[in-house]
Amino acid sequence: MIEALEYLLVILFSTSFASFYTTLGYRLVLYFYGKKRKNLKLVKKWNYILTKPSHCQSCEVDIQPVYLIPIFGYFLSGRKCNHCSTKIPIFYVLPEILFPIFALFLYKITNDLLYTLLIIIFFGHLTIVFITDYKKYIIDYENIPFLLFFPILAEYIHSGKLPDSESVFIFVILFIVFFLISIFSNGGFGFGDVWLISLLSALLGHPYWIFFFNLTFLSSLFFSFIFRTKSKSFLKQKIPLGVYMSGSMMISYLVKIYISNDNFFIIYE
Ligand SMILES: [Zn+2]
Repeated sequence: MIEALEYLLVILFSTSFASFYTTLGYRLVLYFYGKKRKNLKLVKKWNYILTKPSHCQSCEVDIQPVYLIPIFGYFLSGRKCNHCSTKIPIFYVLPEILFPIFALFLYKITNDLLYTLLIIIFFGHLTIVFITDYKKYIIDYENIPFLLFFPILAEYIHSGKLPDSESVFIFVILFIVFFLISIFSNGGFGFGDVWLISLLSALLGHPYWIFFFNLTFLSSLFFSFIFRTKSKSFLKQKIPLGVYMSGSMMISYLVKIYISNDNFFIIYE
């Protein structure tokens, strides 16, 4: 009975964090990089971002409470705004479907509620990277401290471990290599990408960063090819690498937790 309640709690908080971070990501884009950029002062912007009731991005009419229920609201509303019929992008609901699955997986493996919560918050900040890079090709520097703080805190609470010299080594080497690449890439590989790829690799540590690398580059090539604009040369198209990095990081982190909790070896015994 207690166990069932814990799993219910895991599902509830992971879907809530998914909606919170998805909304936050879209609002950051709108108020800091979009058409509302110049309208408001900083304090007011944050006030709007954090307290404005959920509303349609197109007609700005508030969304009725019943449609705000995670996952179900999206399907109940017929996947469109109930007032102006603008379609709601699938990206709005994708984290609400994936986060509870990730959270249940994390909790099943670690049996640590606080750890699960902190890693889900970390995934929330990765979702912001995903959205801002997808919409505007921007990686927010203000987000980087959060991307470090939550996983480091989670690992410390869970196992008492802090990032070691190996992580620092991975960071320094990759930062130098990708910094040089960014100089010669003519804007294709931005400075935000340099920071992100080195920091996320360092967080994963050896050998998981290699998996993260392969997943990032293979997925970016694969999806860029599938969704390419036919009229433009494939090589000249801009790739939002932050999208692939944040997605790959979530998967790599789950793989790391799975393997480092000895589950991998049980299968082969
Ligand atoms: Zn609307």
